[in-house]
Amino acid sequence: MKVFKFGGASINSIERIQNVAKIIQSFTGEKLLIIISAMGKTTNALEKVAEAFYAGNKEEALQLFQQIKEDHVNILFQLNPQPLTILNDLFTEVEWLLHDKPVRDYDYYYDQIVCCGELLSTAIVSNYLNTITVKNTWVDVRDNFRTDDNFRDATLDWNFTQQKIEENIVPLFTTTNIILTQGFIGATDENESTTLGREGSDYTAAIFANMLNAENQTIWKDVEGVMNADPKLFPDAQFIAALSYTEVIEMAYYGAQVIHPKTIKPLQNKGIPLHVRCFLKPALPGTIVSDTPVHNLPPIIVLKNNQVLMQLNSKDFSFVEDTLVNKLHQLFVDIKIRPNLSQNGAISLYCCMDDKPDKIEKLALAASQLFDVQVEKDVVLLTVRHYNEAIVEKLKAGKIELLSQKTQETIQVLMKTN
Ligand code: ASP
Ligand code: MG
Repeated sequence: MKVFKFGGASINSIERIQNVAKIIQSFTGEKLLIIISAMGKTTNALEKVAEAFYAGNKEEALQLFQQIKEDHVNILFQLNPQPLTILNDLFTEVEWLLHDKPVRDYDYYYDQIVCCGELLSTAIVSNYLNTITVKNTWVDVRDNFRTDDNFRDATLDWNFTQQKIEENIVPLFTTTNIILTQGFIGATDENESTTLGREGSDYTAAIFANMLNAENQTIWKDVEGVMNADPKLFPDAQFIAALSYTEVIEMAYYGAQVIHPKTIKPLQNKGIPLHVRCFLKPALPGTIVSDTPVHNLPPIIVLKNNQVLMQLNSKDFSFVEDTLVNKLHQLFVDIKIRPNLSQNGAISLYCCMDDKPDKIEKLALAASQLFDVQVEKDVVLLTVRHYNEAIVEKLKAGKIELLSQKTQETIQVLMKTN
């Protein structure tokens, strides 16, 4: 049994959906569990619907949603000119909600609205595959993936989900070779939809791979595999044929956009190899990620934009000691923000975080009870694994260096454009 994950870019046009069908057909006879993301930029578009709804702009929300509906119906009719009742059910569900007034918090509505992107795309692709006789069974993942109600960043109930997969998915494979389902979404014990965080489909795929003891997992992307830097920023980025789980988990943690950071653990725990392959060039082998250590890697470069540096100074020149530091950590937990890098001095602390303006504001305000707080915006966090001085100098050129940290393997530099 293999697990496949196709991202939104792999199904953003009729030709690409047909291309995905061809890839799936080339695995005829194998058992596949396939996760497909929302089409193209649908998740972003649904976020806009949720924002408009929550701001009280009902008409705007309905209008934005109308466009999403039309886009999906167009694709469906170009692929297969038959109505698909489930699409209407999904549309109606969202529209009903949009006619209400928001009374709960934003994250709850976000999940109820945004989850429909993957339900729509998988329903359309499943239907198309069946009409071209690639027989498959569509599954609503929310019937299996149980989470808590931490909307937009829900945590999986691992045991409950494992049990559901054994009850529902394992027996299904005795009657079907292909199961098509969604990533990124789940449901609470009260059947409210939840999401696992942006780009969470890779993670869902890994959970399925773990629980079904898959032979391997493949993430089909629009690049040849994992590169040592983002090819959009570094045109001479190099392809890497093999990587260890450790390397990839580090890269993802530092902000490389290759794979969702939570994807590796479920695979590593069961020794399941991960393939990253190109849906545009399926003949290429792609990158393989496994527990085999890989030596002589090129420098791996990750740039994380949109960072803030918060400097927290002792108010009265007393040392920044445990009690203060613990209080600060509690603020991070309460506000749900995580430093990407931190450094301590005698009377000051430095933390670099993603610039989520509402959270940063809350944190700065709360922390100002304990420290004198300074916030520096528009900062970039550069991370280089397997670095050498020459490459770091080149990457820092023309920038103001605010702070840096290094180990033997990794250097991180927080910098600002001059
Ligand atoms: N559609 C979701 C997103 O764009 C989840 C995913 O594609 O992994 O974030
Ligand atoms: Mg995606």
